[in-house]
Amino acid sequence: FKVLGIETSCDDTGVAIVDSDRNLLANALHNQAQIHLENGGILPPVAGFYHRANMEKVANQAFTASKLSMADIDAVAATVKPGLSLSLEVGAKYGCFLSKKFQKPFIPIHHMEAHALTARLIDKKVKFPFLVLLISGGHCLLALVKNVDSFLLLGKGLDNSPGEVLDKVHRRLKLRNIPELQNFSGGHAVEVMAEKATNRTEFPFEIRANSILSCDFSFSGLVTQAYNTIAAEEQKYGTTADGVIPSAPNLCAAIQYAITRHLCRRVERAMIFLHRKEMIPRDNLSLVVSGGVAANKYISRALKIVCDTHDYHLSVPPPHLCNDNGVMIAWNGVERYRENLGVLHWDDLDSVSILTKCPLGVDIREA
Ligand code: ATP
Ligand code: FE
Repeated sequence: FKVLGIETSCDDTGVAIVDSDRNLLANALHNQAQIHLENGGILPPVAGFYHRANMEKVANQAFTASKLSMADIDAVAATVKPGLSLSLEVGAKYGCFLSKKFQKPFIPIHHMEAHALTARLIDKKVKFPFLVLLISGGHCLLALVKNVDSFLLLGKGLDNSPGEVLDKVHRRLKLRNIPELQNFSGGHAVEVMAEKATNRTEFPFEIRANSILSCDFSFSGLVTQAYNTIAAEEQKYGTTADGVIPSAPNLCAAIQYAITRHLCRRVERAMIFLHRKEMIPRDNLSLVVSGGVAANKYISRALKIVCDTHDYHLSVPPPHLCNDNGVMIAWNGVERYRENLGVLHWDDLDSVSILTKCPLGVDIREA
């Protein structure tokens, strides 16, 4: 069977078609990143406007490229939570419209569940239960995925997400002024700068949360430390013609290292905990890393070492599937349609509502 997936939770308009044999039949995406970069951040009404302007166009691109029509589709899946309400409503409404008009079942999708399950589309080794680390601009969480719709939340971000930290440091360092980094996302620019570091230990940033006895994440102290250091460096050494401090590469390496270390420690803690409590089998274990920050090679290399130490298979989907896209929504639709989880009849869509916030699964402290 074939599922159409629609994603509009933030600033990407995505429509894709995936079948139950893991074939990607269409993948259309319109990205608003450039528009929001010029505004210095995402303004929800602007995001909503561009989703509305592009929704139908992107859907038609998916149909044209795949030579398929709604008649070939078995179910429609769309992100309904969590995200920006003005963005979510565009895709959710369009999905419901297609579902009613063509009399196809509708499957409401949780955006973070979709991020977590994407790895199973491209990597057959990822079997339930598996561990997932979602690191993006809006989220940071660590969960045990027991089944398509059964998540045990082991740790969550208490403040900034890692993507937010990278984006803030990127903005404060004015890395966009460097011509070769102009069109890079914050995290990507920091990663490229960090590769140029000459002294990786010049700035010893500390994450105090490393000592908190849970798998929760906290990155806020890091932003303050980075801001203070950048101000001090500007005072002492000034900036280049681009307005960037000379020690920017070393600072980027230090930030990236501090984030990586915190992520690795939390993941390792979770692995040890799950073994000790005998909550997972001893073999065929996978760690899935997804979300925009998962594109970072330095972070994934470090997590690979943690995985090798604890006999886990590491699965990181390629960047275009880690960032927001329609494919992950279509695939989540396939996984839910197969097991008849949350599938709605086209005459029964009054209950569909969007939610800006929605925790994923059950918190282990409440389980
Ligand atoms: P969410 O999906 O949680 O709602 P989002 O849509 O902002 O949040 P994504 O699109 O998944 O998140 O990811 C965007 C984030 O990923 C940005 O913060 C960006 O800086 C970061 N990012 C992108 N590429 C890299 C990279 N190579 N290294 C580190 N971070 C990166
Ligand atoms: Fe996302």
